[in-house]
Amino acid sequence: MFSQYVGVSPKSDLILLQMLGAKLSQRSYLHINSTRAGGGVVEILQRMIPILRELGIDARWEVIEGDSKFFDITKKIHNALQGNAEIITDEMWQYHFKINRQNAEKINLEADAVVIHDPQPAPLVEFKKTGSWMWRCHIDLSNPQIGVWDYISQYCEKYDAAIFSVAKFARAMTIDQYIAAPSIDPISEKNRDLTEEEMNETLKKFQIQTDRPIILQVSRFDRFKDPIGVIAAYRIVKKYNDCILILAGSPATDDPEGEAVLKEVKEFAAGDPDIYILLLPPFSDRDINVLQRIATVILQKSLREGFGLTVSESMWKGKAVIGGATGGIPLQIVHGITGFLVHSIEGAAFRIRQLLSNPEMSKRMGENAKEYVRKNFLITRQIRDYLSIWYSMESKGKGILEL
Ligand code: UDP
Repeated sequence: MFSQYVGVSPKSDLILLQMLGAKLSQRSYLHINSTRAGGGVVEILQRMIPILRELGIDARWEVIEGDSKFFDITKKIHNALQGNAEIITDEMWQYHFKINRQNAEKINLEADAVVIHDPQPAPLVEFKKTGSWMWRCHIDLSNPQIGVWDYISQYCEKYDAAIFSVAKFARAMTIDQYIAAPSIDPISEKNRDLTEEEMNETLKKFQIQTDRPIILQVSRFDRFKDPIGVIAAYRIVKKYNDCILILAGSPATDDPEGEAVLKEVKEFAAGDPDIYILLLPPFSDRDINVLQRIATVILQKSLREGFGLTVSESMWKGKAVIGGATGGIPLQIVHGITGFLVHSIEGAAFRIRQLLSNPEMSKRMGENAKEYVRKNFLITRQIRDYLSIWYSMESKGKGILEL
């Protein structure tokens, strides 16, 4: 598998990965998050674990379990940490801890290095026995509800280090902090090159005609992804350019709000046969790959965003993406070079029209976008970063290379 990245990923990343793999060979490396289906964290973990194993590292991925009450609470915590007004009562915090304690009893937490993803399993650190523990935060912590951050940070500060996706998400903490941007896997089913036959299969399944320009957003049905704003932008464009809009997404198992948002979106889109709302079952990677390849313009019009993997996925397919100027999106979109950053519905509509009416410019930006992702956002670079962080934590206080 590793050899499949030769000629795709930058050579320097591959060389470093092999060296780090040799240093950390046979060591145990545990990742824990809160869902096995849906969202960017899953997307990365399911690709990363086999590569780590191939590098000789004893990597393991565990998922904490919880009931709907637990996930309602963690969704509120998540929203509050991204700036929404939410009330988290003492009883809710206690329940959050209780479910984590139950998981700690079931999951084998022993490993040389442990990476805990996001706030849902953050209290597991209370049950740490051995190894270097890292809290890996994927969300935008730049403007949290302070009371909620103060509470959760009591756990986060007990880790040996924290890892953020984007520098501006990091908060003042007493522990070491690292930055590691997320990434996409160029050889996965979601991102690999496809044959025409494979493309046609999906088009037939969803009954999509490609005779008109296609505007696309692929996202969970979540208000932060602004699906309503996407429809509103499309409506402005539609006055001048005949086109269709595809909103493709699925609810994640750790997101109880998905159903309600989907209902709102359906109501807002009602009566327009040119809006396709495609409900994708989990693991629809090939279909997403096809949609991103057939789209004329791709949006990720988020109002808040962790990183926004869908942006790099689309850029890898040679598309200039129009993205909300939030979270990790500006890291991926260099405005005017690899895509456009927007701040409003009107701005999004303007950029859609610009790309639709300048196919040459759109193509050139798409090519830039693909090369930008190759250099910065492929999974080999992210594994290189993670292993470097682990290595540097273990060598803390020792001389260079004295591990
Ligand atoms: N995704 C998916 N099915 C869907 C919607 C999204 O597989 O119905 C994938 C998408 O292709 C991307 C990931 O889920 O790989 C979403 O990651 P992102 O960082 O964009 O957003 P998150 O959902 O983590 O907030």
